[in-house]
Amino acid sequence: MNPINLTIFNEFVHERKNEAVQKVYPNGMHEAIAAHMRLQPGISVRCATLDMPEHGLNEDVLAATDVLIWWGHMAHDTVADAVVEKVHARVLDGMGLIVLHSGHMSKIFRKLMGTSCSLCWREAGERERLWIVNPSHPVSQGLGPFIELPHAEMYGEFFDIPDPDELLFISWFEGGDVFRSGATWHRGKGKVLYFRPGHETYPIFYNPDILQVLVNAVRWAPFSGSPNVTTITACPQITEPLEPLRPAT
Ligand code: ZN
Repeated sequence: MNPINLTIFNEFVHERKNEAVQKVYPNGMHEAIAAHMRLQPGISVRCATLDMPEHGLNEDVLAATDVLIWWGHMAHDTVADAVVEKVHARVLDGMGLIVLHSGHMSKIFRKLMGTSCSLCWREAGERERLWIVNPSHPVSQGLGPFIELPHAEMYGEFFDIPDPDELLFISWFEGGDVFRSGATWHRGKGKVLYFRPGHETYPIFYNPDILQVLVNAVRWAPFSGSPNVTTITACPQITEPLEPLRPAT
């Protein structure tokens, strides 16, 4: 079987500006995720960062990517629109996209959702429980009944997203808030997952349950439909009928 080609995009800005973040992720969040993914059979890993030409996401890379993970926060605005367009087109053509944490405000996620994707938040190191509300989903396998994070940034409702195709996780926070923490959508031939955890000052991407979700998601996200159904990007007129038409009476 061909490996799943995974590309992990991280803006990689906090880790180079903030000492506290550097302590948790000395090589960047993308490398913490990549290190675990490289241990998984059948997953081939590449990393991309904002400072690379075309953010490491040129046409060849995108064409060879089955699943793209996206982490961004303070540099959303500096992601080139041309790259966003190319990523968007690849999602419609079947590339899986996993958007993490503050990626909810990324250009690509907002473009795919068509809503503001805003939410409310509080940084107080609260305990978080992600309740699994769709135990039969491939992304939930090997987990449950909930994932507990001792310290997390709170994200609260209202989360301005379109109704998800599937809701996978609902978070409860110590301070009383709740949040739709895992949700999926189909866009064209592509699958999109939003997964909430991943604040840069906490060691979230070393947590075995969080890594399990990500591995499950990378195995779930590639296009798995019929290769015989082609995506129609224009609106062609079908001049020749497939079968002879009956004469008009
Ligand atoms: Zn955060």
